[in-house]
Amino acid sequence: MSKATPTMEDYIEVIYYLVKEKGYARSADIASKLNVYPSTVTKMLKKLDSEGYILYEKYRGIALTQKGKNMGDYALRRHNILEDFLRVIGVKEKNIYDEVEGIEHHLGRDSINKIQLLTEYLKENKYKI
Ligand code: CA
Repeated sequence: MSKATPTMEDYIEVIYYLVKEKGYARSADIASKLNVYPSTVTKMLKKLDSEGYILYEKYRGIALTQKGKNMGDYALRRHNILEDFLRVIGVKEKNIYDEVEGIEHHLGRDSINKIQLLTEYLKENKYKI
């Protein structure tokens, strides 16, 4: 089974987030969150289903598998760690979300853990620019 691409990771992250916040994820909500067409979402949902991240039935909805939940949990945590880090070092709030979306897929777990430790250290020491 192949590794999730950055696009797949973003979908899983959004599905995980929606299920966590609302209890369910609908195609229309995924499309608006990711700023893509519903037809694009449908295509990706089929792919995520075939790769074992979700169970998808057109009129029944979307459920994350354990593998999907693990990926979603990690992707969301990774996103929040990076947002936190950029915020702590003083990056402008309006740029933070998009910049995290850009870099998050290119850092491994070890780097994410180290950035988290560094962020905690900076917070504890009341780092200010
Ligand atoms: Ca993302």
